[in-house]
Amino acid sequence: MSSSVRFSKICPTCGRSLQIPVELLGKEICCQGCGAMLRATTPETSKVVNTFEGIDERVDRLIQAADRQLQHASAPTNLL
Ligand SMILES: [Zn+2]
Repeated sequence: MSSSVRFSKICPTCGRSLQIPVELLGKEICCQGCGAMLRATTPETSKVVNTFEGIDERVDRLIQAADRQLQHASAPTNLL
């Protein structure tokens, strides 16, 4: 399934648009057009990583907020 996820990168040697599987990220690949070796990196990748980090932070905040709401929700019950 992961092999279907690809990102595009422009070859710096011949300018051809390459479709690179994400599992090759950070590795040396061979351009299909000119055969030049290039590093499979893309600025979009760092955005994806940052997005995942942001989601982790949001999840932590949501869990903390949910815990607070549970505490607040249980407070009136205890008073009754
Ligand atoms: Zn090339």
